[in-house]
Formats: sequence, structure tokens, C-alpha cells
Amino acid sequence: MSSCLFCKIITRDIPARIVYEDDDVLAFEDISPKAPVHILLIPKEHFASLSEIPAGREALMGKILSTARRIAGDRGITGTGYRIVLNTGKDSGQEVFHIHFHLLGGRPMSWPPG
Ligand code: AMP
Ligand code: ZN
Repeated sequence: MSSCLFCKIITRDIPARIVYEDDDVLAFEDISPKAPVHILLIPKEHFASLSEIPAGREALMGKILSTARRIAGDRGITGTGYRIVLNTGKDSGQEVFHIHFHLLGGRPMSWPPG
């Protein structure tokens, strides 16, 4: 999708600090990190949000989660823990409408979220 910020990161039209890539998934550093580890994981195929994932593509979500788990291990935060955030729609605060999982860790986090 040519107007989408994260699609432009996939095509390298916009630079990002990419930490992992395969045929289906891209992971890159959040430009405004909210924790010592703050990585965004996206499918290479454009979907606006979780609400737009069609039936039958659930395995892609699982692949992204297992990628997040592996990156958490690489960053040394498996033991201390981490948070995966998937903002979906207006009330969640979603700002970029290409589905993305936040991987956050490296500091204690409060609950409930704001
Ligand atoms: P959300 O509020 O869940 O839509 O999160 C969007 C995230 O994208 C925010 O954490 C932003 O800091 C991040 N972001 C926006 N533009 C970029 C960019 N060019 N490169 C990396 N991260 C970005
Ligand atoms: Zn996109």
C-alpha cells in the first residue's frame, strides 16, 4: 500500500533500524522508544489492524509472536519479562494503520495501561 508508512519501511523507501526480516515478517526499532527494548513487528502484507486480518491468516499472527519471543531472547529480556502490545483502533491509541506488535522490555512496567 503505497501511502502506508510501514509499507514504505518494508520497501526501504523510509529508513529504519531493521533487526529481523524473513519472507513474511519485518522487525525494526521503534523511532520513539518507550522502553530500553522497543521493537515493532509487522507482517509484510498490509493489513490495517487486527480487525482486518481475514479468517485463515491467524498463523501469520502466531509467526509474529514467535518472532517476538525469539527477539526477546536475543535481547536478553526473557528472564526479566516483556510486554507485547497490539493497539487496535481509535480507543487503543493506534496511530499507524498497518498492524504492528510492540515488543517492550528492559524495565518494569505498570498495569493497567493508560
Ligand atoms: P501505535 O500507536 O500502536 O500505532 O504505534 C505506532 C508506533 O510507531 C509508535 O510507537 C511510533 O513511535 C512508531 N513509529 C512511527 N513512525 C515510525 C518510524 N518511521 N520508524 C519506526 N517507528 C515509527
Ligand atoms: Zn502498510
